[in-house]
Amino acid sequence: MKALQYRTIGAPPEVVTVPDPEPGPGQVLLKVTAAGVCHSDIAVMGWPAEGFPYELPLTLGHEGVGTVAALGAGVTGLSEGDAVAVYGPWGCGTCAKCAEGKENYCLRAGELGIHPPGLGRPGSMAEYLLVDDPRHLVPLDGLDPVAAVPLTDAGLTPYHAIKRSLPKLVPGSTAVVIGTGGLGHVAIQLLRALTSARVVALDVTEDKLRLAREVGAHETVLSDAKAADAVRELTGGLGAEAVFDFVGVAPTVKTAGAVAAVEGDVTLVGIGGGSIPVGFGLLPFEVSVNAPYWGSRSELIEVLNLARSGAVSVHTETYSLDDAPLAYERLHEGKVNGRAVILP
Ligand code: NAD
Ligand code: ZN
Ligand code: ZN
Repeated sequence: MKALQYRTIGAPPEVVTVPDPEPGPGQVLLKVTAAGVCHSDIAVMGWPAEGFPYELPLTLGHEGVGTVAALGAGVTGLSEGDAVAVYGPWGCGTCAKCAEGKENYCLRAGELGIHPPGLGRPGSMAEYLLVDDPRHLVPLDGLDPVAAVPLTDAGLTPYHAIKRSLPKLVPGSTAVVIGTGGLGHVAIQLLRALTSARVVALDVTEDKLRLAREVGAHETVLSDAKAADAVRELTGGLGAEAVFDFVGVAPTVKTAGAVAAVEGDVTLVGIGGGSIPVGFGLLPFEVSVNAPYWGSRSELIEVLNLARSGAVSVHTETYSLDDAPLAYERLHEGKVNGRAVILP
């Protein structure tokens, strides 16, 4: 089968032919119908050889949906042809966190060498994807594969981040979204669907800010050195009860801290390497800073339910597997508006 692989440190990913996978006992083979392109892959492909955590070549793709193509021995509850979404942050399935469905925070994944597809083991940017356990699959139940696939990360990750802050997003509150790309433009919609907060979106180009307004941002602000002052002004000087940074570089993290309200939440989702100093007098009183990772299995089910209700729709552009390297190039250059989706 064809697959998109990251093969050489620092080189672009390549379309190659690899053997068709076959499901072993307990596994499920999916015919991939759509695979999402996440900025995290670009971060991975920017890491140096020293300390690189995954084996190469690596088939990319940690957002995947597909139809069941074959069942390994002993798998029940699924049938060939079922359309499913893949819950990506696999865990051991039995530790205390996994028991809660929080496999993203599995206590034993490191020790057992368990990795998500596309982030350490073969991912969804291929004609077929091997899934280790049927519990990693959620029925699509009528959702369109292209529209649904980004929900498995670009939907689930902001959903989890926003859910933590819901008690603070009361009527009259403000939520700030920094970076309105794949994750950010879904975050805006989730905030509108789940809260009555005023949503202020920041990005670096007018194109991105236009999409932010289209999907529900009340206000947009160009993300520059004056952005924090502009957001403070929009909130009558009080700041935002919740700030979500989907970039995470030093300047955006600085803005995030500078626009937080007293007792606000600052959530750093972007993995740009920025950090925020916490200490008495450095931030408004009782600001909480956190850096979450992906989301739980039950939250993925919730996000898909929300999409089925029509409250969230992902802005997508599609590419063939042969053109997948181009999708990464465009994402790297900031040219993708919404989420790029590969159709293997
Ligand atoms: P994306 O490229 O689709 O979106 C990023 C957006 O940020 C773009 O619209 C870009 O124009 C904007 N941007 C860049 N610099 C900016 C700045 N200085 N100020 C404001 N906006 C700026 O990326 P994505 O796939 O949505 O991923 C976003 C981030 O989240 C990445 O760092 C990714 O690695 C990370 N991520 C983290 C998790 C997690 O679990 N923590 C999960 C998925 C992705
Ligand atoms: Zn991702
Ligand atoms: Zn576990």
